[in-house]
Amino acid sequence: MGQERVQFFDTTLRDGEQSPGCSMHTTEKLRMARQLETLGVDILEAGFAIASEGDAAAIHTIASEVRGPQIASLSRARKEDIEAAARALEPARSSRIHIFLASSDIHLEYKLKITREQALEQADAAVRLAAQLVDTVEFSPEDATRTDVDFLCKIVGVAVNAGATVINLPDTVGYTIPQEYAALFRTLRQRVPGMEKVTLSCHCHDDLGMAVANSLAAIEAGARQVECTINGIGERAGNGALEEIAAAMHVRADKFPFTHGLHLEQLYPTSQLLSRTISYGPSPNKAIVGSNAFAHEAGIHQHGVLSNPLCYEIITPAAVGVPSNRMVLGKHSGRHALAHRLTELGHSLDRDALEEVYQRFIHLADRKKAVYDQDLLALLAPMPAAQT
Ligand SMILES: [Zn+2]
Repeated sequence: MGQERVQFFDTTLRDGEQSPGCSMHTTEKLRMARQLETLGVDILEAGFAIASEGDAAAIHTIASEVRGPQIASLSRARKEDIEAAARALEPARSSRIHIFLASSDIHLEYKLKITREQALEQADAAVRLAAQLVDTVEFSPEDATRTDVDFLCKIVGVAVNAGATVINLPDTVGYTIPQEYAALFRTLRQRVPGMEKVTLSCHCHDDLGMAVANSLAAIEAGARQVECTINGIGERAGNGALEEIAAAMHVRADKFPFTHGLHLEQLYPTSQLLSRTISYGPSPNKAIVGSNAFAHEAGIHQHGVLSNPLCYEIITPAAVGVPSNRMVLGKHSGRHALAHRLTELGHSLDRDALEEVYQRFIHLADRKKAVYDQDLLALLAPMPAAQT
C-alpha cells in the first residue's frame, strides 16, 4: 500500500480575503488562483457566492479558467445560499459546496437562535440539496472545538448520512490546543458510523499562535485535508499558514509520512504574489517566507552556512523557492562572510587588503544597522589621506 495523501485546501481567496486589508478584485483573484494551481493545491475555495455579486462573479470566472484544482464555494445551510453557490460553480471541471452551520450552544443560542433539533434538520436538508448539485459536499460544524462532543458526533452523523463526504472540524475562534484537537479527530473517527468513507479536514485560526501546530496535530490524528492560507492571512489573527504546514511536513517527513500535490519551490513566489496583491506582506521574521527567514548575520552562523547550509538551516531556501540565502552584513559578521560577499561582487582580495577593508567595515557597521553592497563598494575605494 502506498503512502496516504494529505489534500491541501486553500482558502486564501475566501477566509483570507474576508480579513481587513486583503480584499481582491476578480482579476486579482484570478491571478492568485492561477498561481495556486501552479503551486498544486487540491481544492481552491474561491469565495462565498451569496455574500456579494463580486464574490459570485469571481467564483464563476475562476471555475471557468482554472481547471486543475476542485473549485469550492462557501455556503450557509440555506437553500438560497446553496443555489447561488451551485450557479457560481457551474463551469467548474470539479465542484464543491462547503456548507457551514454552527454547532456550539453559544452560536446556536445567540447567533442563529435555533435549537439543536433545528440545526440537525437544517444540516440534513442542506447537505441533501447540495449533493444533487455538485460533485462534492463538505460540511463544517462551525465552532466545532467549543461544541458539546455528543452533539458534534450527532450533527456530523446527520451530514454524513445526507451525503457529505468531507467533514471539516473548524477551530473557528482559535481556541483549541494540539492534544485536544487531535483527540477530537480520534473521537469522531471512533464514534460516528461511516467515517471510514469520509475525508476528515482541519481548519485552524491563529488567535493563540497555534494554528499550524493544531493543523499538524490533526493530520497526525487522521485528518487528510488541511485548510490553510498563503502567508496565514485570514479572520483576526489569521489561518494556518500553508507554507509552514507544507514545510513542516517536508522537513519532518519522518513524522508525516504522507504525499501531497504541492510544488514546494512555488511557495515563495506564491507568497510574493499575494504580498504584492493585498496591502501587506509577511513580517520579516515569518517562517519560510519572511525576508529574514533565511538571513544570517551572526559571524559564526555565516561561516557555518557558507561551509554547509545545513549547519544552521533545516531546509534550503531553494527548496521553497527563495532565490538564495540572504547574508545580512552587520557588526556581527566576520571576515569570512565579508570576503564571500566581496567575491560575489567581483572583488577577490588578498589577506592584507581584506584585513584593511574589514577594519573599515567594522567601523561602519558600528554606526549602521546593516551594511549593503553599495557601502561595501564604497569601502573598497581608496580612502582620503585625512581619514586614514
Ligand atoms: Zn476560518
